[in-house]
Amino acid sequence: MSATGSGSADAGGPVSVQAEAIVFGFPPAPVALSVLRRASSWRIGGAARTLAIFVVAAPFAALVPPHAPWAIGALGLGGILASRRLKERFTLLGVEGACPKCAEPLAVKAGRLRSPHPVSCEACHHQAALRFPEAALGDGPASAKGLGGLG
Ligand SMILES: [Zn+2]
Repeated sequence: MSATGSGSADAGGPVSVQAEAIVFGFPPAPVALSVLRRASSWRIGGAARTLAIFVVAAPFAALVPPHAPWAIGALGLGGILASRRLKERFTLLGVEGACPKCAEPLAVKAGRLRSPHPVSCEACHHQAALRFPEAALGDGPASAKGLGGLG
């Protein structure tokens, strides 16, 4: 029982997805995305934890005048962050490829994967879009899987 990994509860490691970087007016450049598939337990658990933190923090925020706006703000922010976590089915860890315009390597911050995913080139400051076939990510919505605990 010597776990070598980081002890993540997610199934499997990051997967590599072929994509292309698109900048208007330039030919698309092939890139490889490193994508982590998130288990629904990760999303729901993370959202619940986020919400719990803000629910706990809200009364303390309300101690500061003018009281109510802080509490409402804390709860609202918690709700926004929690719903973001719920929607994060895939996390983009990184991108390997070159900017279509200036051929400098592209870099992204890790975060929720969007389709297409925006990335701005640090060298030429052009906004590129990373397009990929969503089928390459594997399973779509977890509609078939049991989410019976919700509702
Ligand atoms: Zn560039």
